[in-house]
Amino acid sequence: MKLMIVGGVAAGATAAARARRLDENASITIIEKGPYVSFANCGLPYRLSGDIAKRSALILQTAEGFFSRYRVDVALKTEALAIDRANKTLLVRSPEGERRVPYDKLILAQGGTPFVPKIEGVDSPNVFRLWTIPDMDAIDKYIAANGVKSAVVVGGGFIGLETAEAFMKRGLATSIVELTDQLMPPADFEFGAQIAAAFAEAGAAVRVKRSLAKIDAANRVAILDDGTAIPADLILMSAGVRPNTELAKAAGLTIGASGGLLVDDGLYTNDPDILAAGDMVEVTRRVDGAKVRIPLAGPANRQGRIAATNALGGSMKYSGALGTSVFKAVDYTFAQTGLSEKAALAAGLKVRAVHVHRPHHASYYPGHNLLSLKLVYGEDGKLLGAQAFGKEGVEKRIDVLATALAARMSLSDLAELDLSYAPPYSSANDPLQMAAFAAQNDLSGYSNIIAPREASLMAAGTAGSDAVFVDVRTFGEYLKGHLAGAIHIPLDELRDRADELPKGARLILVSVAGFEGHLGSRLLKQIGFADVAYVSGGITSMRLFGGFTEEEGEPQA
Ligand SMILES: Cc1cc2nc3c(=O)[nH]c(=O)nc-3n(C[C@H](O)[C@H](O)[C@H](O)COP(=O)(O)OP(=O)(O)OC[C@H]3O[C@@H](n4cnc5c(N)ncnc54)[C@H](O)[C@@H]3O)c2cc1C
Repeated sequence: MKLMIVGGVAAGATAAARARRLDENASITIIEKGPYVSFANCGLPYRLSGDIAKRSALILQTAEGFFSRYRVDVALKTEALAIDRANKTLLVRSPEGERRVPYDKLILAQGGTPFVPKIEGVDSPNVFRLWTIPDMDAIDKYIAANGVKSAVVVGGGFIGLETAEAFMKRGLATSIVELTDQLMPPADFEFGAQIAAAFAEAGAAVRVKRSLAKIDAANRVAILDDGTAIPADLILMSAGVRPNTELAKAAGLTIGASGGLLVDDGLYTNDPDILAAGDMVEVTRRVDGAKVRIPLAGPANRQGRIAATNALGGSMKYSGALGTSVFKAVDYTFAQTGLSEKAALAAGLKVRAVHVHRPHHASYYPGHNLLSLKLVYGEDGKLLGAQAFGKEGVEKRIDVLATALAARMSLSDLAELDLSYAPPYSSANDPLQMAAFAAQNDLSGYSNIIAPREASLMAAGTAGSDAVFVDVRTFGEYLKGHLAGAIHIPLDELRDRADELPKGARLILVSVAGFEGHLGSRLLKQIGFADVAYVSGGITSMRLFGGFTEEEGEPQA
């Protein structure tokens, strides 16, 4: 058995090691065009920032190490140029020249390439990308040699943002330029807003709805589409990644609608002797079965393992990915799993969502931080996705919710989860259970919610509603900022003062974070107010959408 693997990082290196564990006699070769095999690309921003002290920590395995441990031949600086499927050979080019190598089974694990838009000045020596160790070395060297004081990161996805943080840690005045209306475009808007606030708090200049028009390297400025010139001693292009499918396409392998290489659940391409894994393939989104690309390290590693098993005669199935991810937003963490609300809507699903902002552990135990959590669910009560943001406990909730999604749990399953609890870690009802309760109450009609985006539009007067806002916060909270025209009755006075509310009107209760709105709505419903809802996530969530003005001080007479 001759197993040939093209690409030697996450998926490729995993496939090679797994193949050896399965078959001591197979001939296994990795063809890798770069100078390193099995390096930690996810660690690059953290080495650039200095968080990872040693560059060598990023090199997980060398070609020599691969050979001595696994007897895997690694051909570095060797590029696969063409696949001859009829004769089962691969044409490769190394510094020594071109040659043809035979295979019995071929695994493609070529990953993707950052997309660099063709704009004026993009070839200047101060423009970089961060994808490989040589990319990182080049940035490092340029910063040290050129007295770099400012940096512009083009693209507000997770690689751009992690690198922006690294630049800030190195003392560079950093701007982030993002084309869409939010940072972290796959997330829902309100989380993009929280991430932007985290970067702004750390000193970054965040510019959304802007694109890079031109680079003037001589004057060390980047010129945006609105004509603004921003200091740019160094520019990082991080505007998206495209799958490396040219080799596969030229060999007549089928490409999926998402642009990734099409594979079945055994990770076979349309050629039974060629399998593929990692960032280059199209996968099944586990929540709704859509065919998408989910370019993340976890799926790449697991696919590499499965592809190797099947190449050597096994029959493992890949069940698809949820897109669970986590990233460090300076002093905060953002994580998500499954579908965001906008991804669900784009997929044509009828969805609802709840927001909660709760202490990450018992509020009476010192050191709690606010955790924002959103659950996205179907009208049938099935969980579809979740996002969370905060300083602590974020990824713990998202990993539980990822497991719940994999098990196709419903809101009532979530509500009943038996999770660990002691005051330093959580609350007797974990924030994710509080969110599940709120979602159940919403679906059953026990306590209806209104989405914070909708409430913000209504408060801005653009949603054309004659609903009445009832602010149930304390007097102190109300004085600091309230919606114009809102009736203010603190929750603890609501029972006695309910007759001040207009009968027959639609009432929308606004509280700090939603929970007191729910309490008020239950009270009002029981004393005869029929049309009552509360803003999910309260004014905390509404402020993330913005667009409305808040008055300060006493109510106007
Ligand atoms: C800076 C950075 C940070 C990241 N952080 C995270 C993170 O925190 N969490 C996370 O889940 N994911 C993260 N990722 C994404 C993650 O690294 C990728 O999803 C993962 O590496 C994909 O693995 P892969 O094997 O498919 O592709 P890659 O790791 O990209 O490897 C593909 C390899 O194939 C080689 N190759 C391509 N074509 C040829 C050819 N024709 N001949 C020979 N060799 C070829 C390439 O040189 C490359 O080395 C990060 C990526 C980067 C760049």
